[in-house]
Amino acid sequence: MNGNSSLNSTQWHMVRFGTHGEARYLSGDFLNTYDVLIVNGNMAAFTAGAMAEFIAERAANKLYIIDPQTHAFQHHLKYIKSPKTGEVKTSIDRLLSFYGEPFKSSIQANRPVSSGDFSDDSLLTSVVERVIAFQKTVFATQEGDWSKYYNFLKIKVLQPRAVVAPYFFMDELTAMKWLEINTKAAAIAKDKFPEETIIMQLVIDKGVLLNSELLEEIIDRVLDTPADVVAIWIDEFDETAATITELLAYRKMLQKLGTRKPIIILYGSFFSVALMKTMPELNIIGVCHSLEYGEHRPVIPVGGGLPVSKFYYPSLHIRIPYVDVLSLVRPYLDSMERYLQNVCDCNTCKAVMRDANDLEEGFSKYGEGQEHPVKFRRRHQVVTISFPTPEARALCVQHYMWCKENEYKEQLRNASEVAERLEKAAKECSIVGNSFTGHCLRWAKVLRG
Ligand SMILES: [Zn+2]
Repeated sequence: MNGNSSLNSTQWHMVRFGTHGEARYLSGDFLNTYDVLIVNGNMAAFTAGAMAEFIAERAANKLYIIDPQTHAFQHHLKYIKSPKTGEVKTSIDRLLSFYGEPFKSSIQANRPVSSGDFSDDSLLTSVVERVIAFQKTVFATQEGDWSKYYNFLKIKVLQPRAVVAPYFFMDELTAMKWLEINTKAAAIAKDKFPEETIIMQLVIDKGVLLNSELLEEIIDRVLDTPADVVAIWIDEFDETAATITELLAYRKMLQKLGTRKPIIILYGSFFSVALMKTMPELNIIGVCHSLEYGEHRPVIPVGGGLPVSKFYYPSLHIRIPYVDVLSLVRPYLDSMERYLQNVCDCNTCKAVMRDANDLEEGFSKYGEGQEHPVKFRRRHQVVTISFPTPEARALCVQHYMWCKENEYKEQLRNASEVAERLEKAAKECSIVGNSFTGHCLRWAKVLRG
């Protein structure tokens, strides 16, 4: 697994591990729907034993990568503190105990880390060593029944497929300062761990994406590092909401990076999957999504939001609230065959429809709870919200996972074929309006170049 040689033409379906409650959607029937797990550093540090057991046993030694989340310490400290106690969250505190300085002192001084904290090369070297040692050892040091089994088979277990160098978020104002640290960290990582596949994580603001001069400079510097892979996360870049200008800038960025580095998209929708599959010149080797946050994510965590049942509509590649999706699905609820052919033929849909008295009742399982709105006070308003039942949410996630598997596995001949399909879907579904179909037309335009 040295360097990037074995990564050429890889097309990983990657999923971010959210909570242990969601683990059932990543194991059992779903185990073979994806290739690589991404585990957040704080989760790895806080529940190392349970995570190790999950990966070694329930996930049968699935490939994984740990995201060390070093950027968490550069934002306002309220984001890593518990709102109740005002103390640093336990999982982040656990991460701190692995990472040490300069993170510890800056948190003790009640301020986030700044780029100046890493200006000393020997300190930066020790940061890189500790952050990578953490990824290499946090699960391997856990004891469990699996050890004997894998030892007997002489199979290496609980070793990350690749390691991520410490990284920090860059916006237009701070990019040059952090770029210095980020590129140095990647170089040190390769120097100290030459046998590992080194990922440089490029986490940028949308402003950087659209600032072509700055972006060029960043890309040039990233390409000059010895990192084996570049992993990209654009702050809150929702591909289903992005403008054509943004999508073109995104494609151009990938094109330039891809000339010399394999790329992982850390939060991507079907658009990124289509780029990976139809444009090998972009050199995308994996696209990741998660279950809870889906396919885009802000760098600074925002509140949880209110749960709504959303049904992933396969031909539009977007989650649509149950009440809105009904108008799309209803014409096909007159026959099982028509539903499976026009809406979805995944295992969950098949089972739900088969077990119901009629198709109308069957499909309503995806929206259970939505018909009983609850009134409550939020700030100065009374809001009416319908909460989905846990069963409805579970069905929506299962259906989503099957749909994603299909997107990653299906044969896509070329970009214009995908564009045609997207345009057709947008036309057929125009009843739900531009907000749920417009992205298909924008994607089609960008895919056509
Ligand atoms: Zn389905």
